[in-house]
Amino acid sequence: MSLDKFFNPESVAIVGASQAVGKVGYEVLTNMIAAGYEGEIFPVNHKASSIEGLKCYPTLEAIGQTPDLVIIITPAKIVPAIMQECAKLGVKSVIVITAGFKEIGEEGRRLEQQMLQIAKQAGIRVIGPNCLGVIVPAYRVNASFAGALPKEGTIGYLSQSGALLAALLDMAKAHGIGFSKLVSIGNKADIDELDLIEAFGNDPQTKVVAGYLENITDGNSFLEEAEKISHRKPIVLIKSGSTSAGAKAASSHTGSLAGAETAYEAVFERSGVIRCNSIKEQFDYAQAFATQPLPAGNGVAVITNAGGPGIMAADAIEKRGLTFAKLTDETIKKLGEFLPAAANLHNPIDVLGDALAKPYELAIDVVLDDPNVHTVLVLLTPQAMTEAVATAEAMVKIAKKKSDKPIFASFLGADAITPAVEVLRANGLPQYDSPESAVLTIKTMVDYVKWRSRSKRVVKLFPVNRRKVEAVIERHLRNGIREVGETESKEILSAYGFVSPKGSVVSTAEQAANVAQQLGFPVVMKIWSPDILHKSDCGGVKVGLTNAQEVMDAFDLMMYRIPKKLPDADILGVLVQEMCRKGKEVILGMHRDPHFGPLMMFGMGGTMVEVLKDVSFYPAPLTEDEAKQMLINTKTYKILQGVRGEKGVDIDAIAEGLQRLSQLVTEFPQIQEMDINPYVIGPEGTMPIAVDARMSVEKI
Ligand code: ADP
Ligand code: MG
Repeated sequence: MSLDKFFNPESVAIVGASQAVGKVGYEVLTNMIAAGYEGEIFPVNHKASSIEGLKCYPTLEAIGQTPDLVIIITPAKIVPAIMQECAKLGVKSVIVITAGFKEIGEEGRRLEQQMLQIAKQAGIRVIGPNCLGVIVPAYRVNASFAGALPKEGTIGYLSQSGALLAALLDMAKAHGIGFSKLVSIGNKADIDELDLIEAFGNDPQTKVVAGYLENITDGNSFLEEAEKISHRKPIVLIKSGSTSAGAKAASSHTGSLAGAETAYEAVFERSGVIRCNSIKEQFDYAQAFATQPLPAGNGVAVITNAGGPGIMAADAIEKRGLTFAKLTDETIKKLGEFLPAAANLHNPIDVLGDALAKPYELAIDVVLDDPNVHTVLVLLTPQAMTEAVATAEAMVKIAKKKSDKPIFASFLGADAITPAVEVLRANGLPQYDSPESAVLTIKTMVDYVKWRSRSKRVVKLFPVNRRKVEAVIERHLRNGIREVGETESKEILSAYGFVSPKGSVVSTAEQAANVAQQLGFPVVMKIWSPDILHKSDCGGVKVGLTNAQEVMDAFDLMMYRIPKKLPDADILGVLVQEMCRKGKEVILGMHRDPHFGPLMMFGMGGTMVEVLKDVSFYPAPLTEDEAKQMLINTKTYKILQGVRGEKGVDIDAIAEGLQRLSQLVTEFPQIQEMDINPYVIGPEGTMPIAVDARMSVEKI
């Protein structure tokens, strides 16, 4: 359903409007009036006959018509009754500003449910409760107690914190930032972030979707919807607070490595959502997206009147992985025609400390024509001769003339540059308080463009044996067993095309020697017990045993030492296993997030995973590109490619393993967590081996 009546109502009733200055009911009413709202306003308050010159009604019904929008600011306990009145009148859009609901505990939660139920039955959409309201500058709607109406612009903002919205508006004013719509979602009893992201996504007046969130109500729908909208317009979000996802005790490496924020990070990455660490950063990005065209590449040209800031920009460009655009000979020749002999004609172009506005103007103009330049960053420090305002005006003029490449400004200083910065802002040129923040913003835009141009997601399906997996999982669930041991995990994995070393469990030293003989030396021996999760930790793994005597000795030693160390462990014997040829050890894993579903993990494997923590996560199901990107996102990737003359390993084979695992956990939602560690991988063309594996299952 469209949220149009919230944004552009023809009439608004304010239930709980008050004449007491300082009360929320007064603030909302006067904000609405002060905004210059052109529709009808009906204050509702049974104690007053008029407020602020407007006729006041004792009840909603007394108005005699159905208002498009009702704003409720009464005490919480009568809100359900007011909602009932709205239902009777056929109202469809209600903002509940009143607090004292879910956020205060059980009683409030009940009240909220009661109110929501009435609304749902009547088909009423609700924003809030416990929110600051809705602001739409273009329609002069200020249905909030957030202060004056902000400037009109193209940023749509949704906030889970009302107080933050108030601070944000204050900052926006100082930075000359305008909005298409602002919504405080409060407790999001009905309308939540997803509704608004969709509404802003479809709103022609909104170019950038921005927001502050503490949690996401429906993870899967968010992922899907955000991904769709990111293709059309950027979504820049601040996400604070952490989930309870990590609360369940994790038995796998993957589970213990998945932090509270892992799912959000992975989901944002997949859906193209740009995560910001502060309001300042968010404004930096939002302003650029709102006012500038997207850069066509990562070549940046810097024009400066001082060496220092030029070097700062250069450092930032290198650090963020952008490139200093190599100017063409033609550009350099043209620059030489009007810049003084001492000027640096190469990037960063130094127009020198005494530069007036003209050389800046000419330089920007010429550089914008260079095919290697995708973005221009203009730096300025206020020196004796500097014409800051005239330079700003020159930038505005050129930006209007040549509007296909983004232009950024970083005028450094305070009082001396304020009038110039005002010129920039008034004309939609983003100004940054440091070269670094400008560069970081350019990088964010470049990454967004890259994300948008990714090829369409196609998830490969491998031929597998689902029946076999079903049988193993069923058996566990029937017997109430959550942990799937190594052998059975490997049985499941083999049904999805994974290969594991051969081996058998034995209970005497002689049996061990016999099995080893059959497998062929060298062999590996591992303690076999459902109670021991990490076998190496207790001396339960011996590798490289080369003859029968060593095997028998290893058996005796394990059976002697381990029961002493772990008297409560039920030890069933020892696994004698083929030893794999040498290779790199990686970990492939999955952790099922309660909100976002399965998250795949890749990283450096072996017994040190938790120490090194060199892992990356991504939501399943994975495409081939995403699986490869997961590898690239780790430091391990460099090692896998081969360092110091060593040959690299089969990268594609690891990516295929990740995709197969992603298919397994997508097809079997019963699998809660799992990992293969180590997954031993050799040079191209060799078969990777799942040496150790575990998973846990749950009835769903
Ligand atoms: P755990 O993780 O319970 O300590 P693993 O079975 O993963 O036990 O073994 C620990 C380490 O021993 C592995 O990371 C690997 O380096 C080595 N290892 C285990 N099994 C083999 C094998 N079959 N071939 C070669 N190395 C092995
Ligand atoms: Mg292991």
